[in-house]
This record gives sequence, C-alpha cells and structure tokens, in this order.
Amino acid sequence: MSEIPFQTPVKADLLISGATLITMNAERQVIADGAIAIAGDRIVAVGKREALTRSVVAREVIDGRRFVVTPGFVDAHIHITGDPLTRGFARGGPDDTWSDKLQKWVIPIFKAQTAADERLSAQCAALAMIRYGTTCFVEAGTVLQLDAVMEGLDESGIRGRVGEWVEGRAFNPADDQAKVSAAAIAILESEVERYPDRGGDTRLAAWPLLVGHSTNSDDVWRAAKALADQHGLRVSAHMSPRAGDPEWFLARYNRRPLEHLADIDVLGETVMLTHLANIDQSELDLLVQSGAGAIHCPHAAFQGGFGLTHIGLFPEMLDRGVNLMLGTDGMAADILSSGRLMASVFRDARWDQELIPATTVLEMAILNPARAMGMADQIGSLDPGKKADLVLHDTDLPEWGPVFDAVGQLAFSAPSSGVHSVWIDGVRVLDDGRATQLDEEKVLADARQAGREVIARTGLPTRTPWPVL
Ligand SMILES: [Zn+2]
Repeated sequence: MSEIPFQTPVKADLLISGATLITMNAERQVIADGAIAIAGDRIVAVGKREALTRSVVAREVIDGRRFVVTPGFVDAHIHITGDPLTRGFARGGPDDTWSDKLQKWVIPIFKAQTAADERLSAQCAALAMIRYGTTCFVEAGTVLQLDAVMEGLDESGIRGRVGEWVEGRAFNPADDQAKVSAAAIAILESEVERYPDRGGDTRLAAWPLLVGHSTNSDDVWRAAKALADQHGLRVSAHMSPRAGDPEWFLARYNRRPLEHLADIDVLGETVMLTHLANIDQSELDLLVQSGAGAIHCPHAAFQGGFGLTHIGLFPEMLDRGVNLMLGTDGMAADILSSGRLMASVFRDARWDQELIPATTVLEMAILNPARAMGMADQIGSLDPGKKADLVLHDTDLPEWGPVFDAVGQLAFSAPSSGVHSVWIDGVRVLDDGRATQLDEEKVLADARQAGREVIARTGLPTRTPWPVL
C-alpha cells in the first residue's frame, strides 16, 4: 500500500474509489474502502480511499463502493482454437477410447479450420476469458495459423502468450527423424522471431509452446528450452494426464516422463507442464528440485476421469512449494470455478475441509501463473508500477451479500460471472459486461456460421445423447 504525500498530487486517467481491493501484494493486503488509480497502462497509486482522494487528481472517477477489485486472472493453459467454434461436437463414438476420440474427432475438427476460422475462434476465446476476468493466458501450443490468430487476438485487447502446433517426433518409420525435428525447430525459431517477447510492454508474443506427451523429439524439447532460456520465454507442454505417457516413456527409455525430461536437461524454471495427474513421488521430487511450474486443469481432469482423487498429487505439490497454477484447457473460460472445483474435490478426497484455502485458490489463479510466466514484475498484483490489468467484481448481486471476507467470498461463493468491468493495459476491455474492443454480436454470429461450416467439412456425424426432433 502506498501513502502518497499530499504535496505531490498524482495525475491519473482513472480513480476507482471506495472499493474493496484484494491487492495480492507482498503482504497480501485487502483494503476496505480503498482506491486505485491508473495512468496510461500502469497502476500509479493504491491505498485507502481517504488518502488517494487527497493525493490523486484523476480525469475520471468511478464510484467503486459496489465492487471488489482484483488483479486480472491468468489462465495458464487454454486452447483458443479447435474447440470454440464447435463446442460439444467432438463427442466420439460409444466405444471410442480417449485416443480414438482425439484421432477421429478432435484433430480432424482442428484440421478442418481455415485461418479465418482460427482467427474467429481466438476472438471467441478472448471474449469468454475477459467476461470471467481473465486478462492474460498461456495458450496450449495448438494453434495452426499463428499469424491470423495473433491478428485476431490483437483486436481483442487481451494479453497472452501463444504458440504454433509443433511436434517433431517421426512416428512413421519411413520418416527421417533428424529432418522432422529440424522442421519443428524451424517453426519454433520463426514464431519467436516474428512475435518477440520484449518483456513488460509486450501484450502478445509467441513462446516455444509444445504439444508435449510423446509427440516431441528430444531435439525439439532441447531447442524449445534453449530458446526460452535465451530470450526469457517459457516452454509449456502437456504431460501425463493419463497412464499413456508414463507407459510410453517407460517402454522407450525405461524412465518416467519427468525423469526423462530431467535426463535431457529440459526440466527447469522456464518450463510449465500441464496435467501431471499420473506422476509418482520421484517425479514430484523432480518438480520440486527443478522449479518447473505445474498447471492443473480441473474441468479437463474431472470430466475426463483422470482419477485425480485416487492418484493426484496436487495437495502434495502445494505442500512442497511447487508453483501450481490453474488452467481451463478451454473447457470453461471461468478460472475461478476451476479453483473452486479443485479445492472442493481434494478436500473431499482427503477428508480435510481446510485443504486448499481461498487464499491458495486466488494465488493459483493470479500470482502463481504470473511468477511462472516470468511476469510477476508486471502483473499479478495491484501494486503501483505494475500493468493496469484489473477486474471489478460486482457485489450488487444476491450471491454476494455484505462483503466481510472478500477473499473467501470471491473464491467460494460469489458468482464467477459477476465480472462487471475489466481493464488490460489500462484499456477498459469490458464495460458493464459489454466487450469494448470487439463487436461481440458480429463475432458470435460469424462464429456460429463458421462452426456449422467446419463441422460440415469434417463429414463427421452429429451425435447427441437424446434424440433431437
Ligand atoms: Zn490442453
């Protein structure tokens, strides 16, 4: 909290006055009857309303008494293409395994999309994220048309790190592994060069994000890690949602997946791994030692039947200081509900109502991913000097009632859809529930049309659980 002397008035574009601020600052202060001022793309003052009313001269003042203000949420793992135009369609057949569903439904739907479809899809994903207070995301490394997607995202105003689909393992014995790896590495190098991450002032950039599992050759893993280390970026990858990845790595290397990644020197603080449902104690030790980030996507895990309540080591990760964060995997834009679901399920599984408290839910949704992304000096808390990425949660709703414990109420009982307004880089991208940067009605109408066309191109049958007349 900063107390600014009366004699040095701070000029601001906006002062939100009288709100409850969940600052997420180093002391984790919550400021009742607080105020926050922003100028340009930065937060310039945070404190009690009385102090800031005296010390800040703002062009615009918002009466914040009905709002709880938080830093923007960060979705650490989301697919912004592939699914948004065709949600619910890739149901698979009754006897399809997870792998069948992936090969016969999910990937054909991806491949049937044009650059324009992916651009539209990314804008739908951005609109949905912003609606739930997500201001920054790490994409899952499954974009096919990066240039179109970057253009679409730029218009939305959202902050993110995105990667082109890169594999690089020669599964076909006729393919030359060295050539396949080189082609994949060339994509990584090109995307990082075309969309460089220059740190604080870069809203959108490309990172060497990998699909992961068993799809990336060791050379591709090493190249991605080297690019990340060289340019201050991060690698992310899917790993071990189910037993398939451990089985594959054990069969090929006689090592579990994280053991193998450690063997080839690609486990470290610049690496973020998604799912990690099927890891054992030795892999947990490696996560702790390496400082690699872990991303849990509760909706994907629980709907996908990963077995986390039996084998998931997420409470143990938290206990041992692993930097654990939340992702939606694109299944729901709503990061708060992800945290709420995770906490609830593990409390039940471990017979412990104190496990994963509200403070941890908010840290996993805001601060931990900011740290993992190497962006904690820019985002993740309401501190002067940081980016003006913030969310107004509307408490003028029956689910809120009086605000006496903003953290607990926000994490566990407030409607996660109660986001009133969102700023990213000091721009109000959501104003009273309305997107300001994109024509939301047109994007959604175009998306409905495009989705129907994508499905028609795949030639896949529509399946519904009950007959549709
Ligand atoms: Zn994913």
